[in-house]
Amino acid sequence: MKIICIGRNYVDHAKELDNPVPKKPIFFLKPDTALVKNNEPFYYPEHSSDVQYEVEIVLKISKTGKNISEENAHTYYQEIGIGIDFTARDVQSQCKNKGLPWEISKAFDQSAPIGKFIKRNTLDNQESINFSLTINGEEKQKGNSSDMIFSFENIIAYISKFITLVDGDLIFTGTPSGVGPIAINDHFEAYLEGNKLLEFVVK
Ligand code: ZN
Repeated sequence: MKIICIGRNYVDHAKELDNPVPKKPIFFLKPDTALVKNNEPFYYPEHSSDVQYEVEIVLKISKTGKNISEENAHTYYQEIGIGIDFTARDVQSQCKNKGLPWEISKAFDQSAPIGKFIKRNTLDNQESINFSLTINGEEKQKGNSSDMIFSFENIIAYISKFITLVDGDLIFTGTPSGVGPIAINDHFEAYLEGNKLLEFVVK
């Protein structure tokens, strides 16, 4: 399986990092070795001194598709969850400044903790999904999927023009504003429509 992450999908987050608002979805990949499951701890990596959190809604792809239309895109995922797109912001800035690929800032081991998934059809309003992140009990990020620049269906259709999606692939759909640094011993809790789906500590 593969992990595909959308960048700059919320206007307020693009602005907080001084990035232009994109006209088409921007995406990058993480390998399966980035996953952290079962609320296991995240170990602060040695190659960065500014690892930052980005809480994101995650879609789990349920069947193979290529050139998927926006109209059919909703049939390609049945489960929704939440994850953290950990980013070594200092390393990412260096890569961006030099015009280099930024994998070492985004795709390193453990850079993608994911929580439990829930059935999409159990949500009251699939067009307006609330999600949030608290660290040490304090709310750090809060978003709603209706504020995305590109909808889940836009994203699936766009990615599948270039990359075949297969059962089990995960799509991180972008982060709202409020990203920031983490510290050892931080206690993460992430919620989707009030359900705590992810909880772990930084070591
Ligand atoms: Zn992200």
